[in-house]
Amino acid sequence: MEKTKKYAWVMDALSKTPLPVKLRAMKKFLAGEKEYLPEKKTNADMDAIIKCSLCPNMCKFDCPVLEAEKNEALSPSAKMRIAYFIEKGLIGSEDSFELMYKCCSCDACRQWCPFEFSVGDILKGVRADIVEENKTPEKILEIKEKLEKNHIMDEKSFEVRGSRKGEILYFMGCVVQSKRKEIGEAMIKIFDMAGEEYAVMEEEWCCGAPLYNLGFINEFKEFAKHNVEKIKESECKVMICSCPTCAYIFKQIYPQFGFKIKAKIMHSSEYLFDIIQNKKIEVGSVEKECVYHDPCTLARKLGIEKEPREVLRNVGIILKEAYFNKKDTKCCGHGGQLSRTNPDIAEKIAENRIKELAEVAKCIVTACPSCKTAFENWEVYDLSEVVLMGMIE
Ligand code: SF4
Ligand code: SF4
Repeated sequence: MEKTKKYAWVMDALSKTPLPVKLRAMKKFLAGEKEYLPEKKTNADMDAIIKCSLCPNMCKFDCPVLEAEKNEALSPSAKMRIAYFIEKGLIGSEDSFELMYKCCSCDACRQWCPFEFSVGDILKGVRADIVEENKTPEKILEIKEKLEKNHIMDEKSFEVRGSRKGEILYFMGCVVQSKRKEIGEAMIKIFDMAGEEYAVMEEEWCCGAPLYNLGFINEFKEFAKHNVEKIKESECKVMICSCPTCAYIFKQIYPQFGFKIKAKIMHSSEYLFDIIQNKKIEVGSVEKECVYHDPCTLARKLGIEKEPREVLRNVGIILKEAYFNKKDTKCCGHGGQLSRTNPDIAEKIAENRIKELAEVAKCIVTACPSCKTAFENWEVYDLSEVVLMGMIE
């Protein structure tokens, strides 16, 4: 009743409007959706892009890219407005395309969003459309070409000559294989000391996250196909990943493309928590004050916050909490390929996060090889390294 009263003026105005005007208004209303959407079917979620473009954009205060660059065009909603014009074919400058890669896919916007949107996720569809239109910026194409040639990001510097079959398969990930071999070495020692029969792949390819993230969907599927076959060949029951992004891609993105893995997928923090609880290893000798940095993918996309903290307490670490922690963590800058697409922005984001962490403790512990790389000029350890330090033989 109240509603009818509120809109009574509309009925009044309509009844007084001449028929040709009424018909024109009705036609425009019905054609509206068509006019506002691109003619072609898009990979990008247009409904989300339009809603996000019209939003007051309050999530921008938590966007690390905007915080680092102080440029409103890089706020989540502004990126979506530009994405809208790209999808409608109204703009197509190189600058506008490059802007679509200035996001570390950290999901901080999702934390605030009334629609639970992640601009990082929406951008993946926009990038897939850019790929289909052959408009991909040169430096982005180079990342794909390098990956197709080497099958891992960056040069390999660490290899394990272990068994190819076993109950446990250790999936190292590109960053461990190229830059963070100390994490791989720690995990192998822990497996040995826990008496595990573990396997490693003869030819471990990237999980495909960079390809998926940058919109190269066909290439991503090739990588997924290769990995699923190799995982099956290993006959493993559990696959352990040092990198949260690998675990997330295997768990949540492969099935979306029809690639199913039978084995249980665990992040190393879950595995370490498990073997400590089940007394497969004994720990407890590290007395060090450390702050734990929650990797975005681990805390937000996989919801793993408790296990790493429990591991640290068991190891003897005096655990300090950052002001922005757990799901409210701040990105290290290396998410979403930002350190490769826009290294200058990634570096500023890392500096901002280090400042926050350094206020709490001198030593940082994290659970992601990319986060460790972002903080490499600081005293920083992966969870696996701390467990190894604290093991009682
Ligand atoms: S991500 Fe959500 S809160 Fe942020 S601008 Fe878009 S619609 Fe608004
Ligand atoms: S995912 Fe992160 S970097 Fe990207 S727009 Fe959202 S808050 Fe900004």
